[in-house]
Amino acid sequence: MLPLFGYLHLTFFLFYYVTVFNSRPCVGARMVPESESVTVITAETHNATATWQEFSKFLHAERGSQVSGIWELKEYFHRFGYLTLPETAQNFTDTFDKQLESALFLYQKRLGLPVTGKLDSETIHAIVAPRCGVSDAAHHRIHATRHYAYFDGKPRWLRGSPMTLTYAFSPNNMIDRLSVPVIRAVFQRAFSRWATVIPVNFQEAEWYDAADIKIGFYSGDHGDGEPFDGVLGVLGHAFSPQNGRFHLDAAESWSVDFERDKSRVAVDLESVATHEIGHVLGLGHSSVKEAVMYPSLSPRKKKVDLTIDDVEGVQALYGSNPNFSFSSLLQSENSSNFAEGLKSCFSKWTLTLALGFLLLFLRL
Ligand SMILES: [Zn+2]
Ligand SMILES: [Zn+2]
Repeated sequence: MLPLFGYLHLTFFLFYYVTVFNSRPCVGARMVPESESVTVITAETHNATATWQEFSKFLHAERGSQVSGIWELKEYFHRFGYLTLPETAQNFTDTFDKQLESALFLYQKRLGLPVTGKLDSETIHAIVAPRCGVSDAAHHRIHATRHYAYFDGKPRWLRGSPMTLTYAFSPNNMIDRLSVPVIRAVFQRAFSRWATVIPVNFQEAEWYDAADIKIGFYSGDHGDGEPFDGVLGVLGHAFSPQNGRFHLDAAESWSVDFERDKSRVAVDLESVATHEIGHVLGLGHSSVKEAVMYPSLSPRKKKVDLTIDDVEGVQALYGSNPNFSFSSLLQSENSSNFAEGLKSCFSKWTLTLALGFLLLFLRL
C-alpha cells in the first residue's frame, strides 16, 4: 500500500490532468451555432436552383481576368445593393474588375465573412444560399458592437403607444401545401416573438383590405417589380414601414415540421415569417450570422429566436416592452451553451473527486 503522500500526490496529478490537459471553458463558452453553416444545394437537388448554383464555377476567379458569364454575378450584386451599373454602360461586362472586387469586400463585410475581396469557397457558399429578396443596401451603420440596420430614413410605424398593428392573409394568395389554420398559428408565434420585446401588439384583422400588414404567397412576377424565382433563390420580401406588404414565394416547399417533411429544399415558414416581420417593422439586414435579420437561410434550417442584435435594433425604433428584460434573453441565448459547459464541468469534477475519494478510501 502506498503511503498517504503517494495517494495525495496521485490525487493531485489527476486533478491537474483533468483541469489543465482536459480543460475547456466551463461557463459562457460560445459554441458555433448550427445556423452558421451554409448548406449548398447542388443543381441536381433541384433544377430551379441552377441560376445561383452556377456561380460556383467562379470559385477562385481573379481580379483582372475575363470570366465568361461573370456579368450575371454582377447583376446579383447589383440586385442586392453592392454594385451600380456605370452611367456610361448598358450592361455589365465579363471582366473581374475593381468594382466587382469592391462589391465583394462590402458583401463579405455585411455577411460577416472573412473580408478577402476574393471569390473564395466561403463567399461562393454564401452567394448561392437561399435568401431574402430585400436589398442589403444603404442603411447599414456598422458599429463596433451593433450590426443591425434600418431602411433609408429609418422609417417606423406611427400609431401611438402602446401600438396595435393588424395583419391579414390575402384570401386569393394562399398555398395548398399548408392549411390556413397552420399558417395562422405560425404567424401568431412569429408576431408574438417581436411583441414580447417592443410595446406593439399584433392582431389578425377581419378584413384584408383594412389590415396594416398584408400577407400573401405569390409566384414569379406579381406586380411590385421584384419577381420571385421559383424554388429556393429568393424566399420572400417585405416592404419598409408603413407599407405593410409582406410577400412569400409560393413556389417554395414551405414547411412547419422537418420530421414529417423530408424534402431537401424544404424551407421553414416560421423562420422566414419572423425575418420578414423584422422588415415590416423597419429593420434591415444584420451581419450577425445568428441573428434572425441575417439575409440568408439554408433549407431545412429553423432560426426563429430573436438575438440580442435583433432586439437592440427593433427597440431602438419602438422602445422596450415594459415586461421584457435582457437578462431573460441572455439566459436563453446562453442556456444551451451553459448547460453543455456545466455538464462537462460536472463530469470532470465528479471524476476527479470520485477518484480522490476512492484513493483515500483504499488508504483507510
Ligand atoms: Zn430580409
Ligand atoms: Zn412582392
